[in-house]
Amino acid sequence: MDSKTIKCNKCNNDAIIFQKYSGMHLCRKHFIEDVERKIKLTIRKHYSIKRNEMIAVGLSGGKDSSTTLYILHKLFGKRPDIEIVGISIDEGIEGYRPDTIESARELTSKLGVRHIVRSFKDEYDTTMDEIAPQQREKGACSYCGVLRKSLINKIALEMGATKLAIGHNLDDEAQTILLNHLKGDVSRMVRLAPPKELEGLVLRMKPLRHIPEKEVALYAYLNDLPLGFGGCPYAHEAMRREIRVMLNDFEVKHPGTKYALLSGFDKVSGILGREYPQEGLQKCSICGQACTEKVCQACKLLKRDQ
Ligand code: SF4
Repeated sequence: MDSKTIKCNKCNNDAIIFQKYSGMHLCRKHFIEDVERKIKLTIRKHYSIKRNEMIAVGLSGGKDSSTTLYILHKLFGKRPDIEIVGISIDEGIEGYRPDTIESARELTSKLGVRHIVRSFKDEYDTTMDEIAPQQREKGACSYCGVLRKSLINKIALEMGATKLAIGHNLDDEAQTILLNHLKGDVSRMVRLAPPKELEGLVLRMKPLRHIPEKEVALYAYLNDLPLGFGGCPYAHEAMRREIRVMLNDFEVKHPGTKYALLSGFDKVSGILGREYPQEGLQKCSICGQACTEKVCQACKLLKRDQ
């Protein structure tokens, strides 16, 4: 036996990962079990799936959304009263999005899951390739994020979905929490808290919020899921990138930092919600989507109100 081989802390197999934050070496089987156990706990604690639900999954085709779809299908795919549907949005980004949509198509057909693809072009009569070169008040990702979120919610509502799952992992959540603090953006903090039912918005769930990004990538690799594609040409969220580097650095020096940020936030989010109640929703006077003001963000960005 190779004396250098490190064994799993739960059995005698070779370890494939060391979780610095938990002090555990895990083999393939126990790593997969650990990821799935955390996801089941997250779903039970925050999102309770009832009978006769339709779960829509925002499916970009990258590792996070593919893992989200794969796991939800593994957990609920055999239940006859639950339907899982993948929704992909084609924002119109040449050289980037077509490959991820193709990968989403392959995965949904392999799993036997219904797949809906809609584009910015069909819905908004524009694409990110047309928006990006224009004079803009905000970064390209702000446009893309707002328009995509609005369109996915609209499709999920039309289908009668009761939940909308997205692939945000622990790193995404920790970065967003820190970003909101650094910007002093309380309303976004409140919106980040585990969701409440709001009319006009399909309840969002984030099954991967307790799984570090590197572990999502390893889980995707071990289950033959898409790992990732060349980056989007418009990805320029400078502040988030700095926070990502800073948090990764902290995590190396102080393992468990990302989990600590998330669990601290979860503890105070209830108080935040009571102190700063979310504004009631109304229908956008232009497109009819749920929003907090007279006109929704998507219509404002598209200058439909001018
Ligand atoms: Fe859209 Fe930004 Fe993501 Fe590119 S990186 S797909 S522009 S949100």
